[in-house]
Amino acid sequence: MSGVLMITGGGRGIGAATARLAAQRGYAVCINYLRDRDAADALAREIAGGGGRAIAVRADVAKEQEVLALFGECDRALGPLTALVNNAGIVDRQARVDAMDAARLQRMFSINVVGAFLCAREAIRRMSTRHGGHGGAIVNVSSAAARLGSPGEYVDYAASKGAIDTMTLGLAKELAADGIRVNAVRPGFVHTGIHASGGQPNRIERLRDGIPMKRGGRPEEVAHAVLWLLSDEASYATGAILDVSGGR
Ligand code: NAP
Repeated sequence: MSGVLMITGGGRGIGAATARLAAQRGYAVCINYLRDRDAADALAREIAGGGGRAIAVRADVAKEQEVLALFGECDRALGPLTALVNNAGIVDRQARVDAMDAARLQRMFSINVVGAFLCAREAIRRMSTRHGGHGGAIVNVSSAAARLGSPGEYVDYAASKGAIDTMTLGLAKELAADGIRVNAVRPGFVHTGIHASGGQPNRIERLRDGIPMKRGGRPEEVAHAVLWLLSDEASYATGAILDVSGGR
């Protein structure tokens, strides 16, 4: 048994690939989702069918009370938390900044940034030796957008991921003596439903020539990086931001 992993937005895409691989590595997995209950339930059943332990729990990571309930449910069902993957995230429609209203910006930052902070806080309260815990690891899912800026597409999204990178650096230092490592992965173009959710189902095809490897990534390729950062093989890595972006 590798421990208990909370993965936000774990029912689909990169989160689902990470949950699946984590279960294969022996983690009990709490799969958080927001809307797609069928996908999260099916994944939990698949993991259980393979002899693993998993639960699917609905919560909006941007809502504090729902985050509290999510972590409480994970405690009760799976036991003491040892790892968190802050994966839940959204993009919005392609737009220039001069067309973005406050509601869009608030939604973007509430989910992508405030949500990650709230989940990190709950994980810290459980894992930090300062709080009587036994330590653990956090991996934040950032984006190559944090260093590219996504001009003309979604600078708001890129800036939210910039905040995640800075949070990773600060938290890593804040928690280094408390038994918690904090790292991030920065995926590039990965084949998931996120592009269609932003109104661009063919985004990777359209932009593929700009990727040095000339292809998009598979969710599993990000999951392997996440699992390595969570593992004891990365025991001296904290505050690291690992690009998983085909060279872009
Ligand atoms: P995805 O397929 O669209 O999945 C997003 C997941 O986040 C879904 O499971 C969704 O839940 C969940 N979610 C959305 N809002 C939520 C909320 N408020 N509370 C809880 N869960 C919420 O996206 P993905 O491509 O796998 O993206 C995962 C992460 O990777 C994101 O942080 C994204 O920014 C990052 N990323 C992706 C790419 C890429 O090219 N795909 C590149 C760089 C970074 P439901 O299933 O219930 O809808």
